[in-house]
Amino acid sequence: MSDDSATGHGAPRTVVVKVGGSLVSDKRSDHDIDEAAVLDYARLVADLARSYPGRVVLVAGGGALGHGAVRRKEHDGRLALLPLTRATFAVKWVWTEAFRAVGLPAVPLQAMAMYAEGGDGPMFQTGVVSRLLGTGVLPVLSGDCVLTADGDLRILGSDHVPGILLDGSFGPVRVVALTDVPGIHAGRTGDSPVVPYLDAADPSRAYAYLWPTAAWDTSGAMRGKVDAFVAHAARGAECVIARGDRKAASLRHLMAPMADWPKDLPRTVISRSRPA
Ligand code: ADP
Ligand code: MG
Repeated sequence: MSDDSATGHGAPRTVVVKVGGSLVSDKRSDHDIDEAAVLDYARLVADLARSYPGRVVLVAGGGALGHGAVRRKEHDGRLALLPLTRATFAVKWVWTEAFRAVGLPAVPLQAMAMYAEGGDGPMFQTGVVSRLLGTGVLPVLSGDCVLTADGDLRILGSDHVPGILLDGSFGPVRVVALTDVPGIHAGRTGDSPVVPYLDAADPSRAYAYLWPTAAWDTSGAMRGKVDAFVAHAARGAECVIARGDRKAASLRHLMAPMADWPKDLPRTVISRSRPA
């Protein structure tokens, strides 16, 4: 751990890399997943996981398959969302195969089997994640439907999934969302500056920057990310939003103290303290 670990911006113990569906699919369609793009990102994540064994977890964005399953919901009743677990499992499987193709052992894990809401609050089952990390296998998670305290299902969007890992032995945890924008833009257009830091204790500032969300997006796009990351940060995580580049040379900076990140790389950090 580096010197600035006291501020919460040193090298993390665990990095949860969330690759946005926007990078590997067209979410306006119901089925699209770009397997060549998945393979490129799998290669980058595999390099990171090999460089830092036992310290990397992947969360795959649901993309078209996830959003499509929610839009096509056919049944009513308590388990109406159940097809979402199948759709997001298909996404995890595409990633798992891509990791196999690049030679990294990976295992898909169903979020519904790791997290539920009970009368006494949320329940987390993360022992298998620890075991996989300890044996050099990459855990592949994604959004899912999860059981509520009332016994219904609700959507747990992929930006919220890293929260499953914040109660156990994984900390300090950095959550990095790789997405199709370089961070949260301060203006209404993609050429406006990226806000470098947002204080999780004062989320109203973050919300003020958000653009209206497209109707086809079932997870609220950047608003959903801010909701999730403010909650993760309140539980001690350091959260970063940055642009994904499938042709990047490496993702190894994701494990470095924030101060050592490339200076010219835009990103938005959401946490409880400002990076140095
Ligand atoms: P992902 O698939 O990576 O989760 P999303 O589409 O859900 O990506 O969220 C990223 C999108 O958020 C951007 O493409 C952009 O349209 C939207 N967005 C809304 N407000 C902002 C903002 N202030 N700065 C950058 N992007 C924003
Ligand atoms: Mg999204």
